[in-house]
Amino acid sequence: MKKIFLLFVASYLFGAAISIYNGQTLLIPFKKSYEVNLSHTTLKSWLIIPIPYTMKPATKKLKIDGKTISLTIKQKKYPKEQLEVASSKVHPPKSLLKRIAKEYQEAKKIYSTTSQQSYITKPFILPLQSKITDPFGVARVFNNRLKSYHSGTDFRARVGTPVKAINDGVVVLAKKRYYAGGSVIINHGRGIYSCYYHLSRFKVKPGERVKRGQIIALSGKSGRITGPHLHLTIKIKGISVDPMQFIYLMNASLKD
Ligand SMILES: [Zn+2]
Repeated sequence: MKKIFLLFVASYLFGAAISIYNGQTLLIPFKKSYEVNLSHTTLKSWLIIPIPYTMKPATKKLKIDGKTISLTIKQKKYPKEQLEVASSKVHPPKSLLKRIAKEYQEAKKIYSTTSQQSYITKPFILPLQSKITDPFGVARVFNNRLKSYHSGTDFRARVGTPVKAINDGVVVLAKKRYYAGGSVIINHGRGIYSCYYHLSRFKVKPGERVKRGQIIALSGKSGRITGPHLHLTIKIKGISVDPMQFIYLMNASLKD
């Protein structure tokens, strides 16, 4: 896996054009300066660029250390699926609309906050060792009506399975929410967050510093679900990216 990554870096250094799919993360080394017309953050001497799922194919120019490189954004053919969930999770009762709007605003505020400090010093781990039951990006239709896409990775987990922090950080949210159910959000700094959904029990509180591998919650079946599992979302500067591709990419640049 590291070989592919190094090849990618090498082709960039020699000035070749690069391409990426919507929903993925781009990692580019820089020494002194960069100019990108896309959302981004930095970690050490790496530029981290999340490409939104909804972004249409395009070609962008990036200026890195005085060199201009051409970035082509391609449309990935993500699979499609039909899901049946409780009707109240597609048509929420009017009495709950205020709560849902409040939870949405609260999350938006969290993701738009960028801590300058980074808590990421080691490679990422997975929140639990299990089969992936639904990958990122699947185009979804709920109850034949609501069109959406899967904004994270689902892991098979029976209710009560320990869930670990994927890296060091600070807990910014630990509460029950309408769609995500029991949720924990960890701030890893530099605009990077990991989010764990459908939990049944919390083992941490907001404001708490957590270490990679620390048990933060127990998995569950709360929120908009078809069965028990753990959902993991990664947000970079407010943009959801494929968690597995993000972890693979980051780990190629981070050493234990
Ligand atoms: Zn999910």
